[in-house]
Amino acid sequence: MGQHKQPGFLRTLFQGTLDSSLLLPFPWPDEEVRETTETVAEMVRDWAHEAIDPAEIDARKRIPESVLDGMAELGLFGLTLPEEYGGSGCGQWTYAHVMEALANRCASTVTVLGGHLGLGTKGLVLYGTEEQKARWFPELASGERIAAFALTEAGAGSDAGALRTTADPDGNGNWRIDGRKLWITNGGFARWFLVFARTPHPDRPDAPLMERPITAFWVPREASGLTTGEPENKMGLCGSSTTEVGLEGVVVGDDHRVGELGEGFKVALNVLNSGRHGLAACCIGQAKLARDLSLAHAVQREQFGRPIAEFGMMRELIAGMDADIYAMEAGCWLTAGLVDRGETETMLEAAACKMFSTERLWDICNSALQLTGGTGFMREYPFERILRDARINLIFEGTNQVLRMMLSVQGTRALVRGEASEGPESPRFEGAAAGLEREAEVLGELAGAFAAEARASVERHGKEIREAQHDLRRLSDLAVGLFQTAAVLSRASTCRGELSEQERDLASLACRRIEAGLRATLAECKETPDELVDRASESRIRASRPS
Ligand SMILES: Cc1cc2nc3c(=O)[nH]c(=O)nc-3n(C[C@H](O)[C@H](O)[C@H](O)COP(=O)(O)OP(=O)(O)OC[C@H]3O[C@@H](n4cnc5c(N)ncnc54)[C@H](O)[C@@H]3O)c2cc1C
Repeated sequence: MGQHKQPGFLRTLFQGTLDSSLLLPFPWPDEEVRETTETVAEMVRDWAHEAIDPAEIDARKRIPESVLDGMAELGLFGLTLPEEYGGSGCGQWTYAHVMEALANRCASTVTVLGGHLGLGTKGLVLYGTEEQKARWFPELASGERIAAFALTEAGAGSDAGALRTTADPDGNGNWRIDGRKLWITNGGFARWFLVFARTPHPDRPDAPLMERPITAFWVPREASGLTTGEPENKMGLCGSSTTEVGLEGVVVGDDHRVGELGEGFKVALNVLNSGRHGLAACCIGQAKLARDLSLAHAVQREQFGRPIAEFGMMRELIAGMDADIYAMEAGCWLTAGLVDRGETETMLEAAACKMFSTERLWDICNSALQLTGGTGFMREYPFERILRDARINLIFEGTNQVLRMMLSVQGTRALVRGEASEGPESPRFEGAAAGLEREAEVLGELAGAFAAEARASVERHGKEIREAQHDLRRLSDLAVGLFQTAAVLSRASTCRGELSEQERDLASLACRRIEAGLRATLAECKETPDELVDRASESRIRASRPS
C-alpha cells in the first residue's frame, strides 16, 4: 500500500489542489467482486449471529475454540492471503466488508482476525520471499496457526523505534533474539509472531544499542525461550487475547528474517499503514450495532406519552449517527477501492479513515447511551460493552495524535521542501450530483482556506513544523474533514442508479456535520489559544512533576 505510486488525494490537497478526478467516479469494484463480497459478508453475518455470544465472550474474557474453528471453516484466516498458497486472494474491498460484518457482532472476535490478517501475516504478504510464503501461508490460511504482530515494548509505545529487543548472530548462521514485547494481540494462542528486534550495525559492530538498525523476524511459538504472559485484564475487547511475549535466547535461522536486514522499521510502518484501514471498517460494524440497538429501544420506550425517538433532540442523535456512519462508509470504501486499484498512494487516506471512524464510533457510542438513558448504563445491556470496546481504537495501530502528526508532516513535506506548485486560487470539486451543489461549493471554499493555512504554517515554522504540534493537529483535523467530505460527495455522486432523496439528505447532513468542525478549526487558526494552552499546561505539568 502506498509505495512508488501517484500522490493521493490528501497529499495533493495540502498543496491546494482539490483533484476530484482522484476520487470520481467512486471506485466501486466490478460486479464479480461486489457479488462475492456481498455473499461472503452475508455468510459471515449469519454465522456470527448464530455462533458468537459477545456478552459471554466479554464476561468470560476468552473466545471459545468453537468460534475460532468456525472462522477457520469459513476460510476467514486466509481471506486476503494469496490463492496459490491456500488463501482466497481477496482484496481490500472484501476484507473491509468482512471485517465490518464480523465487528457488527463482536469486537473481540474481529480483533483476532485483525491481528492475524491485518498485522501478523501482513509482514509476510508485503515483504516475505516466495519461499517463505509457500512455506508458511498454507497453515496460516487454514487457521491452523494464527499470527501476531510483536512490536510494542514497555519503553516503546508510540515511539516504536525506541524498542530494545535484540537479535544477534549466534555464530552458527542463526539469530538469537532477546527482549520483552508488551500487549500483543493474539499472544495467548498465536503460533507465529512477527517480532521486531535490533540487529548489529553493518559498519560499526560496537554501535550503541539505540543506533542499531531494526529487522523483522518470523518466530514460532514453540521456539525454545519464547514465553507468553497471563492475559491482560482490560477495560474492553475483553475476549481478545492480549499478552506479554518474552524472548530469551530464542534462536531462529536467517530464513526467518522478513525483509532486508535493517529494514524492519519500514516493515512495521508499512504493515501498520495498511492494517489501520481494516480497523476503520471494524468501527463501521460496531457503529451500526450501537445505532440499531439504541434505535430499537428508542422507538419503543415512551416518555411523556410518546416514543422518545420522536423528540427533536433524540432525532438529532439518530440522524447524526446515521449521517456519520454514511461518512465513515464513504471514506473507508473509497480507500478500499483505491487500494485495490493500486494506482495512487493511500497511506494518508487510510490514516484519515482510522482517525475519523474511531472518533465517530466513540461519539456514536455516546449517542447510543444517551438515547437509551439509564438502561444503556446497565451491564445487562450491550451499550456499555460496545463503548468499552470502542475506546481502544483511538489508541492502538497508531494513536490518533501520532497519526495527526504523521498526516500533517507528510502532507506539508512538499511545501517545506519548496517543491509544491501553487494550487488554484479557488479550488472546486467538480462532478457532484444534483442537489449537492452547495456541499461541493463549500468543500472548494474550505479546501482553499485549508491550503492557505498549510502554507502559512510552513512559512512560520519551516522544517520545524514537525514540532509545531498545535498547527499539526489543526491541519490534520482540516485534512481529514475535507477528505471525508470529498468521499461523501464522491459516493453520493456515483451511486448505483439515481441518487434517492433519502441518500441525498444523508450525504448532505454528513457534509454539514463535518463542515461545522472544519469552520470551527479554521476559526481557531485565525485566533489560536496556543499560548494560553502552553502556559496553562506548563504550570500544571511543573506542579505535577515528582520532586
Ligand atoms: C488492547 C491492546 C492491543 C494491542 N495490540 C498490539 C499488538 O498486537 N502488537 C503491538 O505491537 N502492540 C499492540 N498494542 C500496543 C499499542 O500499539 C500501543 O498501546 C500504542 O502504540 C500506544 O502506545 P502506548 O500505549 O505506550 O502509549 P504512549 O505512547 O505512552 O502514549 C500515551 C499518550 O501520549 C500521546 N503521545 C505519545 N507520543 C506523542 C507525541 N510525539 N506527540 C503527541 N502525543 C504523543 C499518545 O497519543 C497517547 O495519547 C496493543 C495495545 C492494546 C491496549
